[in-house]
Amino acid sequence: MHIRIFFIRANNLIFPKLKSFLFNLNPPIYLKLKKIYKRIKQNAKSKIASSRKVSIKQFHALSEKLHSNIDPVNSNKYYCCDYLNKLNLYFESYNDNDGKAVRFCCGVLDKLPGSQYYATAEETVNELLKNYNNIVAESKMLSLLGKTSANGIRKFTSTCAKCDLFQLKDWSGSDGLIHHICLNMNPMPCQSRCIYCDNNIFTKETIKDMHLHPENYKRPFDVIDHLKNNGMIADSTTWNIASGEITIHPFKERIYNLVGKQAAIYSSNCFIYDKDIAVNLASNPNSCIHLSIDSGTPKTWKKIKGANNFNTVLDNLRKYSESCIVPGQILLKYIILPGINDNSEDYIAVVEIMKSLKVNYITVSCDIRGKNLRNEKQSKALIKATGQLLAELKKNSMTYSFSPSFFTSYELENASIFADTIS
Ligand code: SF4
Repeated sequence: MHIRIFFIRANNLIFPKLKSFLFNLNPPIYLKLKKIYKRIKQNAKSKIASSRKVSIKQFHALSEKLHSNIDPVNSNKYYCCDYLNKLNLYFESYNDNDGKAVRFCCGVLDKLPGSQYYATAEETVNELLKNYNNIVAESKMLSLLGKTSANGIRKFTSTCAKCDLFQLKDWSGSDGLIHHICLNMNPMPCQSRCIYCDNNIFTKETIKDMHLHPENYKRPFDVIDHLKNNGMIADSTTWNIASGEITIHPFKERIYNLVGKQAAIYSSNCFIYDKDIAVNLASNPNSCIHLSIDSGTPKTWKKIKGANNFNTVLDNLRKYSESCIVPGQILLKYIILPGINDNSEDYIAVVEIMKSLKVNYITVSCDIRGKNLRNEKQSKALIKATGQLLAELKKNSMTYSFSPSFFTSYELENASIFADTIS
């Protein structure tokens, strides 16, 4: 408790100078700081009430001294993640239960960092930047003090400290601009009915409704316009177009205009071929179209997607492939659903499809909703199904990566071991 109060107070006292404090920290000062921290901890333990005042004074005095001592190498080594370092933004259309609408990442943990929507775009952007700076500043300070656990000391980084992606390394090189924007706003129209998707309730009526209620999209578009108009989006930004199916989206023209010639990842079910997407693929080597193929045969495709159009989808993929200017612009994903799409017929066929499209890489994933619900038996079935797909990919010299946060680390490790034993 004492420690916690101390840090909150100390943060407030030194915060105006915290940025330079952290950048300027050198080893002797750091050791001194660590010593003081240790003393406070001991004092707090022995319930010496006056420890708080003395320590804050000492901290304050140190913060005065610290910004003349520059050690950029040490100060850039702290806990952070790629999402934060590149200032990624993930947009929803309204404030949700945990009071967030724009987040810095899209993980599965509760209370992901970000901001809610405020009355104006400017207020929302200011709040986002404030929260971002607080996270980085607190992380730098606690990392330098050797504090790594997600305990009560943390005010801004408590979620990140529980995240596997929060890593201690040199995070220098951030230019403070936004490098990735994901549009994930509701309602999300989609004509596919993927059995693992919560979004498959949208009908033509819902899509019509979006035209009648454009305010759902007003706030995110306002924030993005504000960011653009104030030069806060890097030229090299990538866009992730994930708001349902872009080819039938009522605001698709506006979204295409926002993206322009910048790199974009179009998540599409590929039911429809869209020439605007093809033009972007042809104009930016970093653009790609992303399809969760999840099958290799029309029969399994229909079972999963609810539509009898596998060959049309493959034709559309081939047409997109003709517009691609570098390898890797067609991205495929296989969401493994044990008992549904884990048979050798589908695995062999999907590898043949990859070869015909000159695609040699695939993301291997599983049903996100099951991660915390899978029992031992289901987990074993997933390990086996994943291992078999990996073995088929390896046999054909295909590369892959996992959607890491959807599997447990036990599942990932054992799927790879199983693949090796049957390869
Ligand atoms: S929760 Fe994880 S991925 Fe999200 S910002 Fe924090 S460390 Fe990064």
